[in-house]
Amino acid sequence: MRYLIFSDLHANLDAFEAVLGAAPPAERILILGDIVGYGAEPNAVIDRVRELAPALISRGNHDKVASGLEMPDSFNPAALQSAAWTFDKLTADNRAWLYAIPPGPAEIDETIEICHGSPEDEDEYLFSAADAGRVFPSVTRPVCFFGHTHVAVSYSTCANFKEVELREPDQDETSTVIGIKPRRHYLINPGAVGQPRDGDPRAAYGYFDTSTQSVELRRVPYDVARAQQRIRAAGLPDVLARRLGLGR
Ligand code: ZN
Repeated sequence: MRYLIFSDLHANLDAFEAVLGAAPPAERILILGDIVGYGAEPNAVIDRVRELAPALISRGNHDKVASGLEMPDSFNPAALQSAAWTFDKLTADNRAWLYAIPPGPAEIDETIEICHGSPEDEDEYLFSAADAGRVFPSVTRPVCFFGHTHVAVSYSTCANFKEVELREPDQDETSTVIGIKPRRHYLINPGAVGQPRDGDPRAAYGYFDTSTQSVELRRVPYDVARAQQRIRAAGLPDVLARRLGLGR
């Protein structure tokens, strides 16, 4: 089985189209939440996601706020402004669709589990090997994909959860391969499609081929200037455009 894993699309149509154009064929698509927020094309991105008919989606914090499910208590001013703008901009049908996305974690099959933040708390950030080590006992499948931090990374540990191994993407490469070994557990973040924060502005996504037991952290360049122009034309905070160019 081949899977494509997309997280944190953030209404960035240009990044998402580039990812879909570059992605290898796959039987199943998994989405780890934050389909909207920050970016200027929430309806177009939701329409593309709905066309793709993903096998499973776990909602993100921005999906909850932009659909009116939750109050934006922890949002900074730019996030707040984009959430309010997104709520207004969404069609009633897309807003209802976003509202109904279930929370993670969710088990896909015998191999894979997905969530937005962490398998223990959909809104929690896993920033470090120590964070990963703390939640590994809650992971129910050999491979758990998570998002939320917008940073591509793989953490793995053996069955007794003693040491956590960190693997970061190879600099400037278009693909970093993580070999999935038997009797190990993995927490893997494919990075953000629509707003990378690991210093690499290229769109990030994941690919898992179970026949070779390899997960790829993949990157693809996209038209950042066009995405920035859309954000500015929409009257959204300029910082949201600037950070796309920095990958921060
Ligand atoms: Zn996000």
